[in-house]
Amino acid sequence: MKYIVLVADGMADYPLKELDGRTPLEVARKSNMDFIARYGMLGRVKTIPDKVVPGSDVANISILGYDPQQFYTGRGPLEAANLGIDLKEDDVAFRCNFITAADNKLLDYSAGHIGSREAATLIEAINKNLGSKYFRFYPGVSYRNLMVAVGGSRDNLDSLKCKPPHDIIGQELDKNLPVGEGADIIIELMQQSVGILQNHEINLVRIDLKENPANMIWLWGQGKKPAMPSFHDKYGLSGSVISAVDLLKGLGRILGLEVINVPGATGYYDTNYQGKAKAALESLEDKDFVFVHVEAPDEAGHNGDIQEKIIAIERFDQFIVGAVLEEFKKKKDFRVLVMPDHATPIALKTHSSDVIPFAIYGKDIAAGNSGGYNEKEALKSSFYFDKGHELINYFIKGLN
Ligand SMILES: [Zn+2]
Repeated sequence: MKYIVLVADGMADYPLKELDGRTPLEVARKSNMDFIARYGMLGRVKTIPDKVVPGSDVANISILGYDPQQFYTGRGPLEAANLGIDLKEDDVAFRCNFITAADNKLLDYSAGHIGSREAATLIEAINKNLGSKYFRFYPGVSYRNLMVAVGGSRDNLDSLKCKPPHDIIGQELDKNLPVGEGADIIIELMQQSVGILQNHEINLVRIDLKENPANMIWLWGQGKKPAMPSFHDKYGLSGSVISAVDLLKGLGRILGLEVINVPGATGYYDTNYQGKAKAALESLEDKDFVFVHVEAPDEAGHNGDIQEKIIAIERFDQFIVGAVLEEFKKKKDFRVLVMPDHATPIALKTHSSDVIPFAIYGKDIAAGNSGGYNEKEALKSSFYFDKGHELINYFIKGLN
């Protein structure tokens, strides 16, 4: 038996007056997802538990069958796994953003989306001056770098309250610093970074070029390595993950899944849809399970761009869902699950915790009587998973 999970990030939405009260999913031409819903099972699932901040990390942990309330520790440790950093049990990994700050205000959470090479040089300077046997800085991608506090959980650094820099744009820095036991030492690192960065030659050039300088680090998103059993231990299946997003690749590594990098997978509108489908089908030749994630609909949601969201859904349907279905229809022993990870409603321009539609098609899945794949049709279904992490168990093992 082969299992394939196809996730279109942030695909679910609210009815929009610009679309005459319909959602992007209702308007998009998506015959393949409609086929799955009509000839398989359509239902609803809650991937974001109450009181948990809705994000792709939490949502995809749910989809893969792990309770985020038990296992989610922060994005730092997931990104550390993606960078191949081996965290010890009591280490704490922080996301280390390069930001642009001026007059005690946060102007840019990404320092103008600084390039990875410039960022790596700056991380080297930070390491030289602030690195120690307790604090180690690691270069990542663009502004998204990492700091590991070695043995940091012994000082409770994992339980600090730290604010994501993208949530405090334009706000005063000193009102948004980390809070809790041991916060002083983290705040000190952030403040000392200013002296190292502001006159660094890379930043002087950036200022000359009218680019935002990376004149401060911002530490947040920290946690210990999550103690998750491997996917194989949990389900007895070998598997792989295909995504352009660091967090999901890190999650895949932590779960012992093979992480496949597809050329041209950008995490944006222009991603290589066909390449992802091809890589997924190739991977299934020797694996039991593959998880494919496409970021584009979420990006369109964040940008509030209705047309791009519809196009992203249509491309996902045609080039990924369609390609997989075409191949699978020749086989008998397969199941396919299609879903978003969470909603990214156009009206909110950010993630929401709403219940989302899913559809399953394949062996031993009885055909329902839905009219297609969308939020309204799913509301008519009696299949509902209040605990999102239980859905995949059903998908793999069935109800009995
Ligand atoms: Zn997401």
